[in-house]
Amino acid sequence: MLSYEQARQVILENIAPAGVEQVDLVDAVGRVLVEDVVAPWDMPLWDNSAMDGYAVRRADCSRVPCKLKVTGYIPAGATAEGIEVKAGCAVKIMTGAPVPAGTDAVVPFEETEETSGEQVVIQAQVAACQHIRSRGEDVQSGQSVISAGTVVRPPEVSMLASLGRSRVTVFLRPVVAILSTGDELIEVGRTPGAGEIINSNTLALAAAVREAGGIPRVVGIARDNLESHREKLREGLKADMLVTSAGVSAGDRDLVRVVLEELGVKQLFWKVGIKPGKPTAFGIRDGKPVFSLPGNPVSSLITFEEFVRPALLRMMGQRQVLRPTFRATLRDDIKNRESDRTTLLRIRLERDGNRFFATTSGKQQTGLLKTMVNSAAIAVIPPERGFMAAGEEVDVHFFGSYIDLI
Ligand code: AMP
Ligand code: MG
Repeated sequence: MLSYEQARQVILENIAPAGVEQVDLVDAVGRVLVEDVVAPWDMPLWDNSAMDGYAVRRADCSRVPCKLKVTGYIPAGATAEGIEVKAGCAVKIMTGAPVPAGTDAVVPFEETEETSGEQVVIQAQVAACQHIRSRGEDVQSGQSVISAGTVVRPPEVSMLASLGRSRVTVFLRPVVAILSTGDELIEVGRTPGAGEIINSNTLALAAAVREAGGIPRVVGIARDNLESHREKLREGLKADMLVTSAGVSAGDRDLVRVVLEELGVKQLFWKVGIKPGKPTAFGIRDGKPVFSLPGNPVSSLITFEEFVRPALLRMMGQRQVLRPTFRATLRDDIKNRESDRTTLLRIRLERDGNRFFATTSGKQQTGLLKTMVNSAAIAVIPPERGFMAAGEEVDVHFFGSYIDLI
């Protein structure tokens, strides 16, 4: 049986980006850039004013207050062509407008007084080059501004747009086939009768795929017979990745592994030393990853979180594929009965100043979904630790959207 760390390593070693595509700039948000972005021009493209005010020659203002003749006006969007600040003169200028020849400082309106519209009085000291943004101050033509592998955020969108890019090449969002197995499953929408279980895994896993940035494709339910498994698994293998739930433990109807092998999927492991989630299998067919997760709703979500999500992010070209990890202090004693396995504890995460605290979010039996709903993180209890006392520190993987502040 592979350890938790070994299983993750085997998975990540076998995953490569799924391909690339060109998208519009706004659709690139959250995606990973394939190429370096090189500036085709300087930014700003010309020396321009950082303030609404007057373009002046500093030498004319060595003693203030001083009076200058206003000889022109350059609003935003106008050019400074043919305009010059001559000795003893000033040109009215708006923020972002190109500064005219002769300018070596801009004096903001707040530091001036306009006398008649013809003349302006400069009241404050003028420093060299003040309030002038010089050409290329931000970015120089030919400079590499964003490197390949960067996740596009709104600031990157702003930079790309400023450099004239309306479309960019990013890694593909993989299509992930999601397949449930079991004769007991019914689709959501009606009240289950005796022996029936609502197929919540398909929806939960589809949501998890979408949240990670992939495109879920629901294949449906494979019933507990070979024909149904063959049909649905064959269908699922058409996607970029296949994720199944249930039918992978030792039950006599657990057919997923058997049929996957029949369909040419090479199984790299089928058990991991974690609790919950031991019956998790991972295989590859022609470079395509296939995850067989346990059926238990809690186990399938935790194994998705710990194994499938990093793989999916790597397929999307992400370099950072693991959740942020904190060290947190346990608030409760933890008894780890399965000391050959890593325990993945469902917890709430609290922050007090610079310290994080882990509180179990409820009873940890794998059948209890509410504990999963109430958790924001997973605490990793190493296998060799049969007992951990309140006050000890553990690693926690944060997947929630907020941390309780106390
Ligand atoms: P199995 O691995 O097939 O023995 O399933 C383990 C447990 O998970 C059983 O209690 C199943 O009823 C439950 N289960 C399996 N598949 C799903 C599903 N798609 N949605 C919700 N629960 C499921
Ligand atoms: Mg089953």
